[in-house]
Amino acid sequence: MKITEIHIYAHDLPVENGPYTMASGAVWALDTTLVKLVSSTGHVGWGETCPIGPTYAEAHADGARAALNLLAKSLIGSDITPGQLRRKMDSLLTGHNYAKAALDIAAYDLFGKTLGVNVADLLGGAETNRVPSYYATGVGAPDDIARLAREKHDEGYPRLQIKVGGRPVEIDIETITKVWEVVKDTGMRLAVDGNRGWTTRDALRVSRELPHIPFVMEQPCNTYQDLEKIRPQVNHGIYMDENSVDLNTVISAVGTDLVDGFGMKVTRIGGLTPMRSFRDICEARNIPHTCDDSWGGDIIAAACTQIGATVKPDLCEGVWLAAPYIIGNYDPENGVKIIDGHINRPTGPGLGVTPDESRFGAPIASFGG
Ligand SMILES: [Mg+2]
Repeated sequence: MKITEIHIYAHDLPVENGPYTMASGAVWALDTTLVKLVSSTGHVGWGETCPIGPTYAEAHADGARAALNLLAKSLIGSDITPGQLRRKMDSLLTGHNYAKAALDIAAYDLFGKTLGVNVADLLGGAETNRVPSYYATGVGAPDDIARLAREKHDEGYPRLQIKVGGRPVEIDIETITKVWEVVKDTGMRLAVDGNRGWTTRDALRVSRELPHIPFVMEQPCNTYQDLEKIRPQVNHGIYMDENSVDLNTVISAVGTDLVDGFGMKVTRIGGLTPMRSFRDICEARNIPHTCDDSWGGDIIAAACTQIGATVKPDLCEGVWLAAPYIIGNYDPENGVKIIDGHINRPTGPGLGVTPDESRFGAPIASFGG
């Protein structure tokens, strides 16, 4: 089966009660990009990529669209199988994983819908239909974040990610301490996410001052080399997020025992094809990880949920979705939602969601047809 049409859409996702604040800045609305593939059998598959602004990573919305335009014109007539599509994309453009991810996800959706098989089954099989999520707080005042921690625990979230960085480290230390006071007897797991915002000095200080609080430090500092520097000196587990840009980096970080886990983004690593390899590398070395996306709507949420459901349960640190922070669903019936801190996995063919494409307006580019 061949790809006969590719359509690219741009869509604005407003942030509910915005802005959302991280060490790298505040976000009011997300500029997401959707891809629709049509096959020679008339089946349709959807993909999505949504960089969270231009400073979170080496990615931005117009960059994704430029790469997708370049790729799409040469992919008409290509086979719909995700592995072959991946190699074809790599032969056309080096890097730009976050753009390729949209086409890779669309190929999985299309392949699954063509076969009548759910994407989790294509990825090896789901361990659960109730996938754990976690809540990310945003950078905020210590008392406000502690209140939020209580609220999210009571809602059923098994894990909380406290955002830190971009301000005096003393306020981060106070925030972590106040959250711990609230959750210490609840079993709620904690990650402290610096989003690259701490110096190594700050990371060492936090770990030394809070040795009794069992959080993992997620991407505390800016570079891979920063993590190498603090690794032998900290009391806490280190998770890599933003630095894990491709499988090669993941293999190095796992193989040299640099990290204890990952916050992984499906689009950063290039979609579900590399994500499944990542999952298997982590399982081989007993490394826990998340299956997140930077941001996006129902398509990316469904992709993260499907791969998250296939992760060995004791290694699954949860699937983070933008759903609680954005308004509305693309699929009014099967849209992905978080209920009691967990995600009900869509079990229909492909990704299990069908967007109401009238929401996206006319495509900004179309190929084939
Ligand atoms: Mg992170």
